[in-house]
Amino acid sequence: MSEAQRRGDAVRLRVDIVTIFPAYFNGPLDVSLIGKAAARGDIEFAVHDLRRWARDAHRTVDDMPFGGGPGMVMKPDVWGDALDDIAGAGPATLVVPTPSGLPFSQELAARYAAQPRLVFACGRYEGIDGRVVEAMRARMPTDEISIGDYVLAGGEAAALVITEAVARLLPGVLGNASSAGDDSFGGAAGAAGGPRYMCGLVEGPVYTRPRSWRGHEVPGVLLSGDHAAIARWRRDMALRRTAAYRPDLIRALRDLDPRDQQVLAEAGFPAAGDGPGAPPARFPVGGEDMAH
Ligand code: SAM
Repeated sequence: MSEAQRRGDAVRLRVDIVTIFPAYFNGPLDVSLIGKAAARGDIEFAVHDLRRWARDAHRTVDDMPFGGGPGMVMKPDVWGDALDDIAGAGPATLVVPTPSGLPFSQELAARYAAQPRLVFACGRYEGIDGRVVEAMRARMPTDEISIGDYVLAGGEAAALVITEAVARLLPGVLGNASSAGDDSFGGAAGAAGGPRYMCGLVEGPVYTRPRSWRGHEVPGVLLSGDHAAIARWRRDMALRRTAAYRPDLIRALRDLDPRDQQVLAEAGFPAAGDGPGAPPARFPVGGEDMAH
């Protein structure tokens, strides 16, 4: 029992993970920010072996796909029994990682951080029989979530990615309360007090000591002590990096001030031919070319 639980404080988030590889989670849930949050009792984990709900001597969880095709499909009866037992107790959101799902985002992480309980159903092979999500949707909030446009071998890594993004948004988990609002997509998460310079943008470069390293200098403005100038510089750098790597986010921005527009114009945004479907813009993204 954690210190917080001994004191009677409520767990802020309970995470249940259903998988055929429980060992995948040995270690990652015990270290760093998540491990500390768990030790404090802010977050509580339970990892369940799906094979517990298998019905035959071989503990089979998959079968051949109807309609033919390569690979195997995870059985609905096994998943149904497991989720009945696990998700049935109290309010929870079921998260089913799949490359064909809704793209995961900082905004979704913030929504999950406000939930009492998340249940992850980690698929393998060709995925879970489609009727499982259909049936669960009728009973509880159920989200099919993709962590990116690529195909993993299983949902375990996706469950870890989502859990880490959510856990760091729980109150008291990050050392510095304003850090989340300061990060890339900070404004998108609606973080209270998040600085305007990160709203809808990815973060620019960051620096620490020494001031000079291998002939590269820290941008002078960061040493100036002028907080307004530093905030403006950070927004400039965020705009430039976002234009370079995520022009889709720049196109979604509203309320660009004259300085924002100047920075983007200097960076060549929008590039000739830029628009939906155009290749990403090609701009310098490091800090040095903008160093004061
Ligand atoms: N046949 C599926 C498709 O093409 O959409 C891919 C199945 S994949 C090999 C096996 C499992 O890995 C999925 O059921 C899901 O749990 C997980 N997975 C793979 N890629 C993922 C992604 N980008 N985001 C979230 N989960 C993913």
